[in-house]
Amino acid sequence: MEVLVEGTRAMQMAKLFQGRDIGFDVLVNDANAYSGGPRRVRSPILANRLRSPSKRQLDWKDFYPLNTVYQFLDELEASFPSTCTVSIIGRSVEGRDIKMLKISNSDANNTGVWLDAATHAREWISTSVVTYIADYLARNFDTMGASYTNKDWYFVPVVNPDGYLYSHTSDRMWRKNRSRFGNTITGVDLNRNFGYFWGRGGPEHSSADPSHLNFRGPEPFSEPETTAVKDIILYSGTPFKIFLTFHACSEAISFPWCHTAEPCPDYVNLLEGGTAMAKAIYETTGRMYKVGNFKDIMYYASGTSIDWSYGTARIPFSYLIELRSKQERFLMPRDEIFDCCKEILNGVKALVEFVDKRKCLNCSVNAKKLRQ
Ligand SMILES: [Zn+2]
Repeated sequence: MEVLVEGTRAMQMAKLFQGRDIGFDVLVNDANAYSGGPRRVRSPILANRLRSPSKRQLDWKDFYPLNTVYQFLDELEASFPSTCTVSIIGRSVEGRDIKMLKISNSDANNTGVWLDAATHAREWISTSVVTYIADYLARNFDTMGASYTNKDWYFVPVVNPDGYLYSHTSDRMWRKNRSRFGNTITGVDLNRNFGYFWGRGGPEHSSADPSHLNFRGPEPFSEPETTAVKDIILYSGTPFKIFLTFHACSEAISFPWCHTAEPCPDYVNLLEGGTAMAKAIYETTGRMYKVGNFKDIMYYASGTSIDWSYGTARIPFSYLIELRSKQERFLMPRDEIFDCCKEILNGVKALVEFVDKRKCLNCSVNAKKLRQ
């Protein structure tokens, strides 16, 4: 089989092959020279963008609509093609792309880190934080330590693109996706639609009523948005070690379980990892994030992504992080965005360094994945 890759990706491809023991030869070093001229011409828009990287629209001084977020991902890929790859992991109910950015040195021994945001549409700060961390990693990857470069980083800044767009254009307080039941768009609460203990417990865990804010959907993974997350995690081939889903606005670092008050097998590790994050956050801005089992510091919930990522996908360090602002709720003041991004970046860095020192009880990292 012959493949043609962009020059900037040559090293990445070589590493991919070497890490997987796939033999290869380079037939032509510069296909343009060989064929007598470039076959692909960059569009003038992209060429201009590459010439003026300082003109980025996304600057963490404001909240941005879906197309700006997606354009930001594409620009990162164009600026750092040897480590950044953008892909579409699925399409929403209304057919919009769910875009993912992966940052990796393509080493086959890497474990994975997952970061997602805007599962709930109105929680805009979560998208700011995840894009900020992606930007920081992309720009600094070459100089970062082994705890960062020995991981494949997966960023999905908008899990729920339809709801996110709708919260920008029509209803600022929209939470769910835009699924239709009967003649009305009622939406499903995507963080009640995951398949682990889906629908268990009473009405305070999740609701069977489509008009309810916590409507769980007709069956587990009924929604394309949750299915996209499930599929990429189970079938990416990367053994994930960390799963972080960002929400707002309780200022808390929570971990499984959500469906029961019982401690999970990794309770002590998760508590300690969460505390390492909270400490780094406190040292950055003085903000105090609570740490604990989700049920202990929030409420009951079933069908959540962290119960699934921990219980089914066996990702040992699974956290749901509730960002600012307790005071202003979902309408966080714009002048707090940057501080929130900085404190959480430091929190995530503390966690990444912590997990590499720990063995975990519920871990599938060494035995690859448990498929379900
Ligand atoms: Zn939320």
